[in-house]
Amino acid sequence: MRRVIYPGSFDPVTVGHLDIISRSAQIFDEVIVGVLNNNQKSPLFSAEERVDMINKVTENFPNVRAQAFSGLLVDFAKKEGAMVIVRGLRAVTDFEYELQMSQTNHQICPEVDTLFLTASVEYSYVSSSTVKEIARFGGDFSAFVPDIVIPEVKKRFSI
Ligand code: ADP
Repeated sequence: MRRVIYPGSFDPVTVGHLDIISRSAQIFDEVIVGVLNNNQKSPLFSAEERVDMINKVTENFPNVRAQAFSGLLVDFAKKEGAMVIVRGLRAVTDFEYELQMSQTNHQICPEVDTLFLTASVEYSYVSSSTVKEIARFGGDFSAFVPDIVIPEVKKRFSI
């Protein structure tokens, strides 16, 4: 059984994330989308709400489930029996941070490796922060997120 963790904030989940999830689901037997519950950030959605949205948009993928976690990613990976972490790379700007994270994780837990999937060209500009920025000013962000996420974001910004 090849189980992979795809960790992130997913605040909210975007079409770019969904692309990485569906591609990972074809490569691995099981994908656990790890939703980071970080007390130091003040997210738009609670970890439970982010987990719910991911579970809804992935309901057609039988081998995908979302789960919140806090603490060290490698500890979560080991607890779930996943020896692989998958991350998406959009541009060179992602690379430096991702390289440092993957090397740090490998150093503190040599059994766990990180694999990178490059963003699909059509989604490479999409990010959760852009969605929130557009929504804050009442703009149209509907191409950036799965359909069920649109009303949830609108509610948060009273659109
Ligand atoms: P972070 O953990 O930095 O808050 P996100 O939750 O936004 O990141 O994203 C989780 C992972 O998904 C990261 O590896 C990020 O690079 C990747 N990702 C985000 N948006 C896209 C996209 N549009 N296409 C491919 N990968 C993406």
